[in-house]
Amino acid sequence: KVRVRFAPSPTGPLHLGGVRTALYDYLFAKNQGGDFVLRIEDTDTARFVEGAEEYILEALEWCGIIPDESPKHGGKFAPYRQSERKDIYDKHLVELLKTDFAYLAFDTPEELDEIRNEFEKNGEVFAYNYITRNRLKNSLTLSKEEVQKLIDEKVPYVVRFKMPVDRILNLEDIIRGKSSVNTNTLDDKVLVKNDGMPTYHFANVVDDHEMEISHVIRGEEWLPSLGLHYLLYEAMGWEKPEFAHLSLILKPEGKGKLSKRDGDKFGFPVFPLNFKDAETGNISKGFREEGYLPEAFINMVALLGWSPANDREILTLEEMGKEFDLNKVHKAGARFNKEKAEWFNHEYLKVKSNEDVLVLLRNVEGINLKNSSDAQLLKIISLMKERATFVKDIFNEGKFFFEAPTEYEEKAVKKSWSEGTSEVMKDFILKLQNSDFEAEILKQDIHDFAESKGLGMGKVMMPLRLSLVGELKGPDVPDIMQILGKDESIARIQNAVN
Ligand code: GLU
Repeated sequence: KVRVRFAPSPTGPLHLGGVRTALYDYLFAKNQGGDFVLRIEDTDTARFVEGAEEYILEALEWCGIIPDESPKHGGKFAPYRQSERKDIYDKHLVELLKTDFAYLAFDTPEELDEIRNEFEKNGEVFAYNYITRNRLKNSLTLSKEEVQKLIDEKVPYVVRFKMPVDRILNLEDIIRGKSSVNTNTLDDKVLVKNDGMPTYHFANVVDDHEMEISHVIRGEEWLPSLGLHYLLYEAMGWEKPEFAHLSLILKPEGKGKLSKRDGDKFGFPVFPLNFKDAETGNISKGFREEGYLPEAFINMVALLGWSPANDREILTLEEMGKEFDLNKVHKAGARFNKEKAEWFNHEYLKVKSNEDVLVLLRNVEGINLKNSSDAQLLKIISLMKERATFVKDIFNEGKFFFEAPTEYEEKAVKKSWSEGTSEVMKDFILKLQNSDFEAEILKQDIHDFAESKGLGMGKVMMPLRLSLVGELKGPDVPDIMQILGKDESIARIQNAVN
């Protein structure tokens, strides 16, 4: 059975790249009729950030990515938090230590610093590897008795992986194809720290095996670890899963990885939800709070590195699951594009029912709808929806529905108002008094009125728009008048004339 896991470390908020990894994990699992597992990799206590796990879960839920198994949802392989699985790692460590693939290293941080400095002096970079391990303090260089003595004396040690010498590893990746690596280029990674907690590499491999994970789909930053992971499976005598490494998400312009700072710098979100930095108190923008619809957001994310058939762009999560294909995931990095993200939101917003948008509009924080009735708001929504990128735009671009203009934009006045315009508008008010306030009728009325005065349509339409809106923008004037109603429309024109 296909089982895919998303395995974030709770070291901070999920960023765009993390969401995409989770999404592809999820889509692949759904496509294959498999399970999607959320596992929290929290063995690195130094990098643990309070609240990060909750953030990750909330973000995934907002996106509609609901795990089949997780710390919150439970499951057959619980617990799903690595910090709660130490006994499992301990058990497997005993097995690993029986093989030739691991050894104990007693070097103190000071000793390691010393040798590191020595290397640096010679312009070299130190690595704990097949060459240097032979002169360091470990169970390969010490006698059995010496090792036992150190253990008895409770001298701290780490467990390292003993990288084989001069072996060529043939690696396979669903997205990148075949590659190979010589083990001499790899170092002896720490598998278990001196506090007895496993590092990422060991815990990750143990859990993928224990949780019967069939496919590991993760970011390309883990590609350099793939050789080690292959060997860990070999050392443990386990069958390994299949691997797929996803390319980076790049900055909108040019090269380089999209970073958290880009969001702050360019003013677009890079996190699904707002994130407040506990240390600085700074808030980094989230897509949710910026007003993105989760369906639009997730659709945008999915297409950062994957192309559905027939260049289709708008797909629901379910449709994406049906169509998702790892073989169609791009090798090259995808560039984040803010305009495209906004386009997605617009596309989703414009096809929502007015009733659904009404609920969203009423929930937008920090806007004052001035006690407008649902009926009134529905009219405004139907008129403004197609022009809006975000739900809040319906209010921001349609403020004049809620409030009469208190001033008139200078340029617009110059353009629309000249000698005699006030007289024309006064006459028009008289005509309006007998009008039915229905857009089609009003349109005809404006037309007839302009004709009777021997004026071009613009000479009536522009000052009218200025009176109603305060500037020369917005939807069609008759539509605006219909929504405002007779009294309000006339009052506004009257105001402008005075
Ligand atoms: N805990 C790792 C991370 O935070 C997981 C990497 C993996 O999926 O193997 O990215």
